[in-house]
Amino acid sequence: MRTSKFYLFPVKEDPNDASLVSHKLMLRSCMIRQSAAGIYTWLPLGLIVLKKIEAIIRKLHYEYDIQELLMPTIQSADLWKKSERYSDYGKEMLRIVDRNKNELLYGPTNEELITDVVSKDLQSYKDFPKILYHIQWKFRDEVRPRFGVMRCREFLMKDAYSFDIDFENAYLSYCKMFLLYLKIFKKLGVKALPFEADTGPIGGSLSHEFILEASSGESEIFYDNSIHDLNIDNVDFNNSSEIKDMVLNYSKYYSRTSEKHEEKVFQNSTNEKNIIRSRGIEVGHIFYFGKKYSEKLNSTFLNDKGKTNYIFSGSYGIGISRLVAAIIESSNDDKGIVWPIEVAPFQIGLVNVRKGDNLSTEFSENFYKSNHGKYNIIYEDRDIRLGQKLNIMDLIGIPIQIIIGEKNIVNNYIEIKDRKSGKVSLVSKDKIEVFLKKEYEL
Ligand code: ATP
Ligand code: MG
Repeated sequence: MRTSKFYLFPVKEDPNDASLVSHKLMLRSCMIRQSAAGIYTWLPLGLIVLKKIEAIIRKLHYEYDIQELLMPTIQSADLWKKSERYSDYGKEMLRIVDRNKNELLYGPTNEELITDVVSKDLQSYKDFPKILYHIQWKFRDEVRPRFGVMRCREFLMKDAYSFDIDFENAYLSYCKMFLLYLKIFKKLGVKALPFEADTGPIGGSLSHEFILEASSGESEIFYDNSIHDLNIDNVDFNNSSEIKDMVLNYSKYYSRTSEKHEEKVFQNSTNEKNIIRSRGIEVGHIFYFGKKYSEKLNSTFLNDKGKTNYIFSGSYGIGISRLVAAIIESSNDDKGIVWPIEVAPFQIGLVNVRKGDNLSTEFSENFYKSNHGKYNIIYEDRDIRLGQKLNIMDLIGIPIQIIIGEKNIVNNYIEIKDRKSGKVSLVSKDKIEVFLKKEYEL
């Protein structure tokens, strides 16, 4: 993409209606624009990041046979009356009446709807297990929407739902999702840790939150630093005892309170110094709720003895739009956003220092034309001040910045700047590909 064509209108000054760093940076870099209280438009730069996160989530769900469907944003109130959540959900739920006076609502979550959908299809014990998910906008009329897309009213969520024949199998689905979430966050380049959690209005008996450490976060977290040593890369997803063991291993290193022997102890902490007390942002939340909805909605199947049983379920959410802000919140500096390369809107920023210099322009144009299919490039091809060009690349957080200047290019060199470390390398113009492969595995 050429900056001369891209919808990019960065702002130099901090907006005065934003207090959180991520909110300021998302506004300044032209990623989002507020359309109403707690309701945002995603501008091209923001949408690219949102879609990148979606793509990673989709890919990993697919690898584990978790299938995507798409449920509507608008739901009928009837199902919610049956589950008895219509009144419980309170003022957070946006209620709508259509022209025929039918009661509808804008979905804050989808347990009822999905239970109703699958109950028509999952009839026999042979049809289980199944896990389905969708990526859809949710609406919650938050009392105090704030911090931009971090806590807004309309937000994008990935929500998955598992269906099993009994507790044993449902717990296994829960553990698989627990580990899948860790894999997803790792792939996104973010360090989100699991913590035991309250179930809130979703209900149920077992629940974990995935929290990304950030000093501005709303959640208090306590964990043992050794949790970072646990490695899920080699867990065999077909081996149920290995999956359950791994989830258990994690539970040894986090706690809901700072008090060592209150509520839940750090089972493995031998060294008090390893215990971290910190804050973070909830980016994912998983729940096991068993028969809670299937009983209310009469969602049953026939077991291997021909007996009618209720389905056992869990639900698994990731706040995709919140993640965009959360990643920025945990990865920024005084110049702007520092994207992990996995979710960066563009991997490479190509900066032509001076358009008037023929050699630089010729090289930049050729590099862009022959490589923009291979790499994700934003090409600064405008005739604006160099300082401005570099500031924009830093503000919008481009991880690798290739700078083509007349002094270097006459000697067949270009500069490559790493956004995160600030390190600048002088690279021979014939060795760019080798360098990108070696340093960034591109
Ligand atoms: P919170 O405790 O932050 O209010 P929640 O526990 O009500 O969130 P869940 O029902 O667990 O939220 O929803 C799943 C995920 O959706 C959350 O982990 C979060 O990432 C995201 N999410 C929830 N509420 C909002 C919101 N108002 N704005 C943006 N994302 C949200
Ligand atoms: Mg939650």
